[in-house]
Amino acid sequence: MVQVLGDSIVVSATDLVGYLACDHLATLELGRAQGLWERPPRREDPELVLLQERGVEHELAYLERHRAAGRSIHEVQLRGPTTLEELRAAEAETLDAMRRGVEVVYQATFFDGRWRGHADFLLRTDRPSDLGAWSYDVADTKLARGVKAGALLQVCVYADRLTTLQGVPPERLVIVTGDGVEHPERLADYAAFYRTVKARFEARVFGDLPAPDTYPDPVDHCRVCAWFPTCMDRRRADDHLSLVAGMTRTYTERLIDDGVPTLADLGELPADRAVPRMNPRPLRRIRDQARLQLSGRRAGALLYELVPPDPEAPGHGLAALPEPSALDLFFDIEADPWALDDGLEYLLGVAWRDGNGTHEYRPIWGHDRRGEKAAFEAFIDLVIDRLERDPQMHVYHYAGYESGAIKRLMQRHATREDEVDRLLRGQVLVDLYQVVRQGIRASVESYSIKSIEKFYMPVRAGPITEAGFSVVEYERWLRDRDTAHLRDLAEYNRDDCVSTLLLRDWLEVRRRDAIIDQGWSMPRPTTTVAEPSESLTVCTRGGPAGGCSRRPVGTDRGGGGALAPGGAARLASPRREAGLVGVLPPAQSLDRGPRRRDCRTGRARVRRRGRTVGPVDRPPLPLRSSPGLEDPRR
Ligand code: SF4
Repeated sequence: MVQVLGDSIVVSATDLVGYLACDHLATLELGRAQGLWERPPRREDPELVLLQERGVEHELAYLERHRAAGRSIHEVQLRGPTTLEELRAAEAETLDAMRRGVEVVYQATFFDGRWRGHADFLLRTDRPSDLGAWSYDVADTKLARGVKAGALLQVCVYADRLTTLQGVPPERLVIVTGDGVEHPERLADYAAFYRTVKARFEARVFGDLPAPDTYPDPVDHCRVCAWFPTCMDRRRADDHLSLVAGMTRTYTERLIDDGVPTLADLGELPADRAVPRMNPRPLRRIRDQARLQLSGRRAGALLYELVPPDPEAPGHGLAALPEPSALDLFFDIEADPWALDDGLEYLLGVAWRDGNGTHEYRPIWGHDRRGEKAAFEAFIDLVIDRLERDPQMHVYHYAGYESGAIKRLMQRHATREDEVDRLLRGQVLVDLYQVVRQGIRASVESYSIKSIEKFYMPVRAGPITEAGFSVVEYERWLRDRDTAHLRDLAEYNRDDCVSTLLLRDWLEVRRRDAIIDQGWSMPRPTTTVAEPSESLTVCTRGGPAGGCSRRPVGTDRGGGGALAPGGAARLASPRREAGLVGVLPPAQSLDRGPRRRDCRTGRARVRRRGRTVGPVDRPPLPLRSSPGLEDPRR
């Protein structure tokens, strides 16, 4: 937070990280520091409170590790300094502990007259410095499971001042991620990046140049930013293009450059009007989206349109809907990213329609790793049982979280691999978010399920109506074990499952409209029967070691029995023999090749100079839903 202390502007490592995330944030913070405007009142946000609590717990756990190892610790007493004098005193206390050679300095404070910084830890090393035969490295605890650029930038600020105080630069910047893992990084690898960002930021804050004209374009940081209400109000007042569902920053810039600055302008853009540097297809898509949002706004009603089939993308949109089956399942997961070391998928919910047409719902809980494994196995067994009874059944979900979680749980627990392979290769999972995005146009700012369900179900009631609050509710249960929390969570999850079921039904009606009213061709997707995945084929050939005992089931949605000697070519497949099968593209298969993924999170890892910098982190709590920041499940 940019501060004015005495006659000086004082900035912090957090300000620099915020500047990296959003240029407009620096504008707002500087204006506030100069007394031009106020920050919006802080609303009670249980999710942010949860994040803060978890952060403190993580920090204290790391402190406890050092204490348990018998290291000498100095805890800087002067917390939250608010004046120049206090800041100087807190740094003096830090320096005194360093000169005494304390092994761990906790809550180290730095202040050079302009920059303030509060490093979680300084760790003594054996490298000589002006202090004596030792010096210090910096360590900071972060809840994220991977090392982010912002975290490194932050510790670079501390390292900068630490270099001055001890006379030598620290060798390592240590980020302690939420799973307790220490990630040592070399300062030299980030110094140039840090200097560049810092120089730009200082020119902005302390320079004489006029302030640039920034705009609150949506960025990831909006999810946790205190200025969110201010920025959202500004976008609405401006009828900004970011209010158009599916809009990107690049499109926004190109449209504004060409004199199309608002949603209304875009909605009224003539169909034959081109925009430089924009391909006609995406332009048509966002123009049609803006037009419908504009119509809905003017009519004061929710509107939707059917998107005609795209000859260049057959099988997409409504044409991706498989034939309904009485055994279809509707699936939704609740997860707590902060539970245990690596997050917990604590509730797998499934709904289905019983013989009377009413909804059944089954919550499958797992409150620890063993429970999570048992819940996953129970869910997979439920699906396989139905698949055996009707090979045409499907599991519907909304957006990619559920399919990703299935792979992640399979890998984490090393169980039900063949069954999952069977589900993935047989395209049993159907993502209705893709169907909606490609097949329907709606007059909403976001295609999240909570926005889309306004078309087919009443507004939800109940204690939990937002995903982020479900995490908070589960965390409350972890603390007080009051079963009322679990009851509320099951209710919330059931609503999500039933919403997915009702969405499928609503889309089926839209598909029928498309065929009957529009005369569009909407063939059902071809049922796929995949070849066995590579590793399974290797197994059937004896494999490299010749001893793999994996049962090669799951290569045929209609089958599932053991593979006949001779491998994939001899798989019994009634539907293939009947000429009903298609070939699954390789990309759809379960990748068992060399991993470029974090095996715990299933997310892609970023590689730099042969080293893993970190996984693209698990998404943070879905704190806010905002146009331009769509979280489709929420
Ligand atoms: S709400 Fe978003 S756009 Fe506004 S200042 Fe914060 S990060 Fe920037």
